[in-house]
Amino acid sequence: MRTPLIAGNWKMNMTVQQAGAFADELLKNNLKEGVEAAICAPFIDLPVLAGKFKETDIKVGAQNVYFEKSGAFTGEISAPMLRELGMHYVITGHSERRELFGETDNDVNKKSRAVLEAGMTPIICVGETEEERESGQYTAKVAGQVTAALEGISPESAGGLVIAYEPIWAIGTGKSATSDDADAMCRSIRSEVEKLYDKNTADRVRILYGGSVKPATIEELMSKSDVDGALVGGASLKPEDYTALIAGA
Ligand code: PGA
Repeated sequence: MRTPLIAGNWKMNMTVQQAGAFADELLKNNLKEGVEAAICAPFIDLPVLAGKFKETDIKVGAQNVYFEKSGAFTGEISAPMLRELGMHYVITGHSERRELFGETDNDVNKKSRAVLEAGMTPIICVGETEEERESGQYTAKVAGQVTAALEGISPESAGGLVIAYEPIWAIGTGKSATSDDADAMCRSIRSEVEKLYDKNTADRVRILYGGSVKPATIEELMSKSDVDGALVGGASLKPEDYTALIAGA
């Protein structure tokens, strides 16, 4: 009953020209139905993608947002600005933003709430470091991130959320979690959502796995009951790979 979602995270890749060319190529392909496709791109690419995908089911999202609506915040972009562009999704709390740009759990919560308030859906990223995995603290770490991110979010909104489990050691390393480990963590996140809300909300929320997902691994991953899709970096940059990910989901 949960629609699978393949969300591309382009990170700081793709110029406006490259984004346009990607969209033109992708639109030549027949994307498998029943799988939701979304591309989260750099801010400057968003108007181009929104225009190219306007008459299609392909959704577009941003990779970051600031939580205030407007004002003296030089260099920032607000949720209402993104909504006006036709964005559906905004990634919040990606580990690169947490690690490289000092985003805290509290920032992730404020950003996620701003995204919801503007009528979009946050893709809230959580995940443990390699040390936390090895020392066995990963379930507690991720549960804490989920609890902090969801603070103050209503049950009605929570059911529509997307949460992405992305172990930091698996991102961009080619070292993916096994499908069983990914499934176990997605299940653990779902049970955390049930604790915070209720079973109905937990059954509705979509939980993705991210970290070195490739066309060759997507089918096995998607065969797992608690994995509702993938957040994909490297393998979302080529139209043929992205199409293969959708086909395998
Ligand atoms: P990767 O990135 O697929 O290149 O590992 C995933 C992500 O950071 O969202």
